[in-house]
Amino acid sequence: MSYQVLARKWRPRTFHELVGQEHVQRALVNALDQGRLHHAYLFTGTRGVGKTTLARILAKCLNCTAGGQGDEGVTSTPCGQCPSCVAIDEGRFVDLIEVDAASRTKVEDTRELLDNVQYAPTQGRYKVYLIDEVHMLSTSSFNALLKTLEEPPPHVKFLLATTDPQKLPATVLSRCLQFTLKHMPPERIVEHLAKVLGAEGVPFEESALWLLGRAAEGSMRDAMSLTDQAIAFGQGRVEHGDVAAMLGTLDQRQVLSLVEALAEVDAARVLAEVAALAERGPDFGGVLDELTGVLHRLAIAQMVPDALDNGHGDRDALLALAGRLTAEDVQLYYQIGIQGRSDMEHAPDLRTALEMTLLRMLAFRPQGVPAPAKTPLPLRGAGEGGAGPGAGTVAPPAAPSAPAQASGRPEVERQAPAVEPPAAARSPEPPPPAAPVSPAAAEAPPLPQEPPPPWEEAAPAPSVHAPKGAPAPEPFQEAGPAAESSAEPPPEPAQAEPSPETPSEPGMAGLFGHADWLACFESLGLGGLTRNLAANCVVEHDDGQVLRLRLDPALSAMRAEIHIERTRQALAEHGVVRRLVVEEGPLPERVETPRQQAERLAAERHAEAVAALRRDPNVQKLEQAFGARLIESTVKPAETGAGS
Ligand SMILES: [Zn+2]
Repeated sequence: MSYQVLARKWRPRTFHELVGQEHVQRALVNALDQGRLHHAYLFTGTRGVGKTTLARILAKCLNCTAGGQGDEGVTSTPCGQCPSCVAIDEGRFVDLIEVDAASRTKVEDTRELLDNVQYAPTQGRYKVYLIDEVHMLSTSSFNALLKTLEEPPPHVKFLLATTDPQKLPATVLSRCLQFTLKHMPPERIVEHLAKVLGAEGVPFEESALWLLGRAAEGSMRDAMSLTDQAIAFGQGRVEHGDVAAMLGTLDQRQVLSLVEALAEVDAARVLAEVAALAERGPDFGGVLDELTGVLHRLAIAQMVPDALDNGHGDRDALLALAGRLTAEDVQLYYQIGIQGRSDMEHAPDLRTALEMTLLRMLAFRPQGVPAPAKTPLPLRGAGEGGAGPGAGTVAPPAAPSAPAQASGRPEVERQAPAVEPPAAARSPEPPPPAAPVSPAAAEAPPLPQEPPPPWEEAAPAPSVHAPKGAPAPEPFQEAGPAAESSAEPPPEPAQAEPSPETPSEPGMAGLFGHADWLACFESLGLGGLTRNLAANCVVEHDDGQVLRLRLDPALSAMRAEIHIERTRQALAEHGVVRRLVVEEGPLPERVETPRQQAERLAAERHAEAVAALRRDPNVQKLEQAFGARLIESTVKPAETGAGS
């Protein structure tokens, strides 16, 4: 068996082979080339980043004889062939004295070591002391070392290495030239492993290298020895499944599949993915941790794509996924995920807890779940029938980023033993509990196919206000793809009603005014950050060619070309074909942005919904019979969601 472990075989023998420590390499090469040699170097960094390797290379630079025998022979490119280089590489160079301080901490040991300092080197140009884990020396050993460092003989170089420089006395630190070796990022490790395996002729899957790169935690040496193990484990191949099994890590691809299922709002697939995970008997808490980790990176991908790391080798996949989820969804899922994690200890079993957490993400989704069958349960039914399906209604998580919009009915909370109201506030399906809506009424006719752009309508009837006695049942449709609105029959045929305060009149000569902007905002169907940007703009000017929007300067950070372009496209699809310019500037007073309008309307509807509930005989009965009280803050009228 002539198999040599990779870590040893591929140990760098020159500065140029040293991976990921270019800053140290450059400094040392310059010093060597210019003959500015310090007598003591300190290399710090976590284990396995190459401290002793670097020290050995430096020892070769100092002692290589290829360039000549005198001091002028010192080189930044040791030959690797001369007797000195070969001896150092083979670990038998008498003038390279390697000390593991972790095992030689007694002052006598150090004395014995340093007693020999005064003698000239026997074989090489310099006597090189390499003291690894130097922080482990005892105080008296440090004192002995310090004395030598204060007046070092010219033929001696000290190369100190430590993982913990803070434990070194300042007197020692101040006499050393210090280099901090970097923690190796997974990208560099993967790159290096790919090179090594390619040269070794070992077939590999790149995703497997990412697993190894992460498991190595910044240590190239660990990465190499893990790769050795993986080759043995995979019988000559390095494949993702084997490596995941060997490391006992979760297959990141399965976590991504789970997030994909969430992005598709496909509850069945979510459960199927969990079932697939369960076959491996994973740590379900770990799955949730990984999932929230992915959501965190998705949020970065959405807001600062350039900052997204490729630490899992899945950067492209995440960037693609980021476009399929709204920023609100990502924030909400994350919030629910970490809450679900802390609730896990109370769950009957961990898989149940994971499944419930995932389903809750979909249930609380602002746009709701396009579930196949939903049975609206009016509040009175629950009140009469004992434990309804909504028993144990979960309070919406404290997710400020997740306005539970579009839930068309208020929520009533009771303190009595009565059952909870049906799943109000969870998903946008049932009619308002208190609203005297008949089941037939709930099944309102579907949307008229394509409502003409509001500004083409002659005089839109302001119908924001609900009929007396009932909270407005979603007069504003959540803007979004038609596919979603089909899940919930909109009670009002009108979509994107203009505010009564800002009558939408067709702009003069077909020009697009601010009232048109407010009127059509919802039907533009903008989502995520684009919606956020547009919702904070007012129309400044339109000349039929160029439409100028003014953006609230507080949100200038959001002004990205992609959002402007998406807004331009959405407008063009609605017949407003313009070059779109978005400029920051103070917003005029008395002019509402779509967001401000939405907030005002929401406040008005909320007040109205509360008033309507107070008038509702069913609620009054509940209050009398069970001591229920209306929690006003939980009343959620439908809202447009602009500015969410
Ligand atoms: Zn040499």
